[in-house]
Amino acid sequence: RHAGPKKVGRVEHANGTGLVAALDTLHLDSPPPTIPPPLNSDSRSEWEERVKTALENLPPSIDPAAAQSILNEVVLTHDEVHWSDIAGLDGAKAALKEVVVYPFLRPDLFSGLREPARGMLLFGPPGTGKTMLARAVATESKSTFFGIGAGSLGSKWLGESEKLVRALFAMAKELAPSIIFIDEIDALLSSRSSGEHETNRKIKTEFLVGWSDLARAAAGKEKTTGDPSRVLVLGATNLPWDIDDAARRRFVRRQYIPLPEADTRLTHLKTLLAHQKTSLTDSEFDELVELTDGFSGSDITALAKDAAMGPLRSLGEGLLDTKMEDIRPIGMCDFRESLRVIRPSVGKEGLGRFEEWAKEFGERV
Ligand code: ADP
Repeated sequence: RHAGPKKVGRVEHANGTGLVAALDTLHLDSPPPTIPPPLNSDSRSEWEERVKTALENLPPSIDPAAAQSILNEVVLTHDEVHWSDIAGLDGAKAALKEVVVYPFLRPDLFSGLREPARGMLLFGPPGTGKTMLARAVATESKSTFFGIGAGSLGSKWLGESEKLVRALFAMAKELAPSIIFIDEIDALLSSRSSGEHETNRKIKTEFLVGWSDLARAAAGKEKTTGDPSRVLVLGATNLPWDIDDAARRRFVRRQYIPLPEADTRLTHLKTLLAHQKTSLTDSEFDELVELTDGFSGSDITALAKDAAMGPLRSLGEGLLDTKMEDIRPIGMCDFRESLRVIRPSVGKEGLGRFEEWAKEFGERV
């Protein structure tokens, strides 16, 4: 089935650009909201009550229409991702638990010296699970998830962007615990955007101001409503070197999300095929793991999807009157065929640059 117009507020990741694509239809004068309950409210009525209070509590400097837009289009709900959905990345999961999940669930334990971080950057090649990790953090920490592609901040909200950025931070505080997830954050915080377009520069400034205010409010230096200490800015980027120095330093934690190692590729392939009829033997799985060296998580997903079509393709027109139980299992031959078309999307040369940046500025998994 072809994807129709994307429903705003849902992320469908076919690839790393899921968030941006989902927000393609973003505009301010969208129809009145039907707000589903998010992850940290047990019921729709509880959520509606919280939203109502949040809107009532907003300081006068916040445009109510902008706040409503944020609710409608940036607060993502329903689409739960759990740690177990993500293959490998144990180091990143552990770091995210320590930085976000535990502090959000047990704020009493994490204060003073143990105060939670206010910014975390996930960087690495595209399609390695950065967006999935962010979604899992929101699910597991029962947070309100504000998800947006940096690209859409500038282009879709033209003229309204600064208002919306202010509303974004205000709503995140009101509906805390909150994760503000910015995909392709390099586009927002690049050193180039300062000199470049006037609008981009303004959005960047507004964003950095909102973020600093959060820290000041959390430290009690500024009067505020909501709970600023439980708002985290989580950024994802494939171009970490584009982020300017000052902005980079605000991400106190920077986590490298590399291409999957052999054992992660095996887990991922096994998970994808778990509910499928397949004839793959253990040694064929091992061979596949070798053949997919250099593949990202999303390449592996694409490969398995294509291979799964193999048994149907071989039926040709016969597909229409073959019974489900007579369809042959997915075999190594299907993967071999698919491997001719589905190739790794990240080149070896590109990887070196991530490794270097990780060595200089990042934490390794
Ligand atoms: P990124 O944000 O790093 O570009 P995503 O998180 O959007 O990548 O991943 C894109 C898709 O690739 C996911 O929807 C999922 O199907 C697959 N994928 C990537 N990494 C993993 C992983 N570690 N485990 C399971 N699936 C993955």
